[in-house]
Amino acid sequence: MRVKCARCGVEVDEEDTYEMSGERVCEDCYFDSMMPQHPCDPFAQRAAERFEEFFGEVKPENLLEEQRKVYELIKERGKATPDEIIKELGIRPGELTQIFIVLRRLKLAKAHKIGDKIYYVPWDYRGES
Ligand SMILES: [Zn+2]
Repeated sequence: MRVKCARCGVEVDEEDTYEMSGERVCEDCYFDSMMPQHPCDPFAQRAAERFEEFFGEVKPENLLEEQRKVYELIKERGKATPDEIIKELGIRPGELTQIFIVLRRLKLAKAHKIGDKIYYVPWDYRGES
């Protein structure tokens, strides 16, 4: 079933939508909403600066160490849930979100729903849904 994103109005398959404050939104809006926006948060600020730095021509080998670790884990596994990545790499959920947003912007990884679970998968993933 095709549904409209409550934020940007783009039409997407219902299974590709995410719930955000009671609204159905597309993947772009969902992850954009997690982008650091608070200038007083030093971590968010740093993430935003890094993001600027990396936006443009980025290759996997140019990623920051923790970004590369997440990317490589996703690539190696083919798919991994955020929980698995957090446990495996010993990072905080907030950190993983920031890292994933960067990877997603760089088209290195994306989110994919299988059943009712969200997995992080390589950008070129074509798997079961
Ligand atoms: Zn949208």
